[in-house]
Amino acid sequence: MIRALDSASLAELRRRLGPLAEVDQPLGSRTTYRVGGTASLWSEVRDEDDLLAVARALVDIDIPVLIFGNGSNMLVADSGFPGLVVHLGEGFADLHIEGTTVRAGGVLALPTLARRTATAGLTGMEWAVGVPGSVGGAVRMNAGGHGSDTVATLVRYRRVDLTTATAIDEPVERLQASYRHTSIAPTDVVTEAVHELLPGDPITGRAAIDEVVRWRRAHQPGGANAGSVFTNPPGDSAGRLIDACGLKGRRVGTAEVSGKHANFIQADRGGSADDVLRLMDEVRAEVLAATGTELTSEVRLIGFGPTPT
Ligand SMILES: Cc1cc2nc3c(=O)[nH]c(=O)nc-3n(C[C@H](O)[C@H](O)[C@H](O)COP(=O)(O)OP(=O)(O)OC[C@H]3O[C@@H](n4cnc5c(N)ncnc54)[C@H](O)[C@@H]3O)c2cc1C
Repeated sequence: MIRALDSASLAELRRRLGPLAEVDQPLGSRTTYRVGGTASLWSEVRDEDDLLAVARALVDIDIPVLIFGNGSNMLVADSGFPGLVVHLGEGFADLHIEGTTVRAGGVLALPTLARRTATAGLTGMEWAVGVPGSVGGAVRMNAGGHGSDTVATLVRYRRVDLTTATAIDEPVERLQASYRHTSIAPTDVVTEAVHELLPGDPITGRAAIDEVVRWRRAHQPGGANAGSVFTNPPGDSAGRLIDACGLKGRRVGTAEVSGKHANFIQADRGGSADDVLRLMDEVRAEVLAATGTELTSEVRLIGFGPTPT
């Protein structure tokens, strides 16, 4: 079980954070699944000083911490998250373009980054227009699509380590990135990413963006979901395996495997995160029994089990 947030620790952390934290704030409803419970404490930081203050407040307090980007790769348990959630405020949404170098704040939306760099005549981020996450979440996940990923153009990033209250600039090599994985720890907050793009042409860039949007609409469902539920196993696709097992349309309570894309699970409006998890477990078990392949969750499961993030 995850560590429970004992009431004395909660009270002490709340006292230390003062106006930097709010109690019992919506969390699941802020995710793209739009289901799930609340966070015991929610801290929205305006700048790096705030973030370092949060880190210092955490000294000697042993509670689960979750960094929340745009919640597009998370499923929050109906019982909520018994810990501190840290979210970057609008002060971290800057975008600076100098030549081919793009410096983006950690909470900037990826579709905005894709569109603005393409309009500026740069190429390399068009794939991100269909990924509804933040810049920091994309670094943590090494998000990608359409033959590219975050580390293809990332050159360096800035992170605040909440365990040591330090801000560090690091080159991309430190990420040790692979498919949907990096070395960023659950207590690291990525506050900025620097991408080196290539010179392009705004008209070609806009056409590439339109094509990504068209492809997504044709192949992926709308509604409440978090994109691909499982990572693709080596040499195969999770969607193909789930489809081959006849699981499109499979329903558990308020959750359903999409009929449009088998690796998407959709939640009904007002539905239950626990239903989504039960359906994930059912899909994983049936695919394992039928194919011998064990699917791994790409979606971060928050508040359900041993690892909070
Ligand atoms: C419709 C749809 C389509 C999608 N398509 C794709 C796709 O094509 N490719 C793809 O890779 N993903 C896809 N996703 C998943 C998701 O958008 C990406 O994983 C995205 O990078 C998550 O960013 P986020 O800010 O929403 O992260 P969150 O969901 O908020 O968090 C995800 C993880 O990142 C951590 N995190 C978030 N922000 C930070 C930060 N600033 N610093 C450190 N850690 C942080 C969280 O703690 C958590 O562990 C899709 C999702 C949806 C809903």
